[in-house]
Amino acid sequence: MTSPMSTTDSKNDAIARRDLRHVWHPCTQMQDHETLPIIPIRRGEGVWLEDFDGKRYLDAVSSWWVNLFGHANPRINTALKEQLDSLEHVILAGFTHEPIVELSERLVALAPEGLTRCFYGDNGSAATEIALKMSLHFWRNSGKPEKTRFICLENGYHGETLGSLSVTDIPLFSATYAPLLKEHLRAPSPDCSRREPGETWENHSRRQFEAMEKLLQQHHHEVAAVIVEPLVQGAAGMKMYHPVYLTLLRQACDHYGVHLIADEIAVGFGRTGTMFACEQAGITPHFLCLSKGLTGGYLPMSVVMTTDAIYAAFYDRYETLKGFLHSHSYTGNALAARAALASLDIFASDNVIEKNRELARAMAEALAPLHDHPNVLEVRQTGMIAAVELVKDKTSREPFDWRERRGLQIFEHALANGVLLRPIGNVVYFVPPYVITPDEIRFMVQTAIAAIDVAMSATASSSAHDNLYIP
Ligand SMILES: *Cc1c(COP(=O)(O)O)cnc(C)c1O
Repeated sequence: MTSPMSTTDSKNDAIARRDLRHVWHPCTQMQDHETLPIIPIRRGEGVWLEDFDGKRYLDAVSSWWVNLFGHANPRINTALKEQLDSLEHVILAGFTHEPIVELSERLVALAPEGLTRCFYGDNGSAATEIALKMSLHFWRNSGKPEKTRFICLENGYHGETLGSLSVTDIPLFSATYAPLLKEHLRAPSPDCSRREPGETWENHSRRQFEAMEKLLQQHHHEVAAVIVEPLVQGAAGMKMYHPVYLTLLRQACDHYGVHLIADEIAVGFGRTGTMFACEQAGITPHFLCLSKGLTGGYLPMSVVMTTDAIYAAFYDRYETLKGFLHSHSYTGNALAARAALASLDIFASDNVIEKNRELARAMAEALAPLHDHPNVLEVRQTGMIAAVELVKDKTSREPFDWRERRGLQIFEHALANGVLLRPIGNVVYFVPPYVITPDEIRFMVQTAIAAIDVAMSATASSSAHDNLYIP
């Protein structure tokens, strides 16, 4: 099959053809690419990506939520080039280097009070696995080996590896692998899009907490930790809730002797309007998982931060076998640490959190016209994350059939008009780099609205992909 763009033999097409011969793309039904062109990107600058035919795309999803300060950021580039000439990587067991020492110091200074120990991994899934293992191992080291279960949230997402997938509640990603996964306990989501008419976010989140409290009450003796995505359940479609849920959760975890794991892999580093989402609830979790924005979107790296008390439970003579003998080859990579330091420098010098408030306001203003759209169930926003949930019928809340793939149609229309969106099912969301300008925000949102209008008016049968299945 030929792609719609292959009528002229462009450079894009030549690379895309080579790509499809050997590259198996992530989170993709590869058959989609019989009709959907792969876009080869030649260069990036700020919020813009440019393909080999010179067409530009505004990266409204920060390349899967990782980029903070734009592509090819001059300050991060300079820091990396300098690092490259002195040390690219060294084993972190028995050895160390300045970037990782300084990064740990700075993360401890920035994170909620009491998180003083940093354990590094090389991707987000590894971080959640590390936190789960550390929690269980802490209880074993502390004479409570029966605490081996975890409580997670409905709609939660914590990664793709088997341990992290076990505490993930997105059947599209996990159902097939059920025979490989361990069963854990699931509490209802605090997702405020389900609140009763007239109910506040706070009241809804409080009400949803009651079921979590019951689970803790019944199972605390066998539960090691509760794992949640603070404030925004990203992969489920940017489902949002009130910070009071986290405040109540931390209190209950203390009461019942259970750890709290805050997976801030997506929401950390300013996404929700504060450096870390937990700040809005005034809490310190027992484990804080960070990745994605950690290196400004440059290199894979993750970290699990925890307390001195937890660290102390592993600290003993070797023969006790209480040590945390977990490792990844690229743990503490020097280039990644240097990129992370350069990104933290930008936070420190450019007043980023403050300035993002204006950008968040510009997003809200640009999205305002959608509140009355007949197919928009809800426009929701937490800081620099905004989402639009589309439905077939606003009054009955009837969703579109997922087989119609309205989100994919929106993706295609927006892409043709220069904006990279990647809707999750029927949720269109915006997670742009923080270097976006108010004008670019208006362009991004207006392009999305036009794409939504086209996709909403299309009849179900006119979809070219109605038998296909991607998230
Ligand atoms: C992306 C994500 C992960 C997994 O990170 P990877 O680097 O993709 O393995 C885990 N938790 C949350 C909340 C995420 O958004």
